[in-house]
Amino acid sequence: VLCASQDFDFFYFVQQWPGSYCDTNKGCCYPKTGKPAADFGIHGLWPNYKDGSYPSNCDPQAPFNPSEIRDLSSRIQKDWPTLACPSGDGLAFWEHEWTKHGTCSESVLDQHDYFATALSLKNQSNLLRSLKTAGIIPNGGYYSLESIKSAIKDGMGYTPYIECNVDESGNSQLYQVYLCVDSNGSSLIECPVFPHGKCGSTIEFPTF
Ligand code: 5GP
Ligand code: 5GP
Ligand code: 5GP
Repeated sequence: VLCASQDFDFFYFVQQWPGSYCDTNKGCCYPKTGKPAADFGIHGLWPNYKDGSYPSNCDPQAPFNPSEIRDLSSRIQKDWPTLACPSGDGLAFWEHEWTKHGTCSESVLDQHDYFATALSLKNQSNLLRSLKTAGIIPNGGYYSLESIKSAIKDGMGYTPYIECNVDESGNSQLYQVYLCVDSNGSSLIECPVFPHGKCGSTIEFPTF
């Protein structure tokens, strides 16, 4: 056939706020390389269908191979830090994301390009700056969910989905930001479908 069959429709590019990963009951562990910068970090680049479902673990024959991303190692350590316990060097997190999600977009992005694409998307999306422009800063204050979405829409040009989690005191807080990316991994797009979840109408933006 001339065209590879379309095996997914778009990507979610998901970034996590480290302060919100860390201040839950489970806590977190800094990577062996030290405390990450107070910035959003990459969680993953996730192939998705426009009906809201998604493929996972698509190719057991394509194991994660760190030698394929050696040229990206300083950028990936900075922009895609692991916060899970026990402290790690990041390889287990990147392996998980490649195996679960990356193997489902192999027709478009090989392993090197999967990680390079996520790093490039992170470079193009300065969430913290977009939020700061609107006066939204990670100071432990509370902000309306709508003001957070508008600030990111104004800064990035596209409406994000906001995922919340809860801190140790049960407060709803800004945990992850989802932006949508076309199936080539080349441009941000408006999301064809949003995930479902619950945030308060005002949410905390904790420090890190
Ligand atoms: P949770 O159940 O904590 O929301 O998500 C657990 C994991 O499932 C995520 O880290 C991600 O790997 C996957 N996941 C959850 N929601 C979505 C989604 O809407 N699309 C894709 N592609 N993966 C998802
Ligand atoms: P997902 O939710 O993407 O399916 O799975 C995330 C997996 O990566 C979990 O097994 C989690 O323990 C691990 N992981 C390692 N570091 C991190 C991190 O910094 N953030 C998140 N959300 N998961 C991490
Ligand atoms: P609607 O789809 O009508 O905009 O919103 C339906 C519900 O989803 C409302 O309760 C609204 O507060 C919530 N909501 C809107 N945008 C987001 C978002 O980005 N993240 C989450 N978690 N909830 C949202």
